[in-house]
Amino acid sequence: MTTDCIFCQIVAGQAPARVVHQDDLVTAFWDIRPVAPVHILVVPNRHYESLREMGEGDGAVLGRIVQVANQVARQEGIDRSGYRFIVNVGPDAGQIVYHVHFHLIGGRPLGPMVLRR
Ligand code: AMP
Ligand code: ZN
Repeated sequence: MTTDCIFCQIVAGQAPARVVHQDDLVTAFWDIRPVAPVHILVVPNRHYESLREMGEGDGAVLGRIVQVANQVARQEGIDRSGYRFIVNVGPDAGQIVYHVHFHLIGGRPLGPMVLRR
């Protein structure tokens, strides 16, 4: 655990969060500033600064993240209506929290994923 990392604190139960799932590898909790009716973050319990740090040895945790995302989508009733599952990596992507997290977003039509030129 990295003590000054807010997501490590949430994983450890030392900071408040609306946790919807936790197991030995992964925690999922509501984003504090949701952009859609469902906006949940799925994070590895272990601290990785970003997706850039993850690779060949991390197959188990990456597989679990996908499994948990799909399970939480079902729990929240958006598995049929659809959702986005996205990761911001580094400054150009707008990553703010440097503990890798996957955004599970849905519950309304999200429109095209528009990028400004
Ligand atoms: P990103 O730009 O991908 O780094 O997104 C960081 C996300 O974390 C944003 O959507 C924030 O609203 C969210 N966030 C920041 N602090 C917390 C927190 N304490 N609990 C839940 N979500 C948080
Ligand atoms: Zn962390």
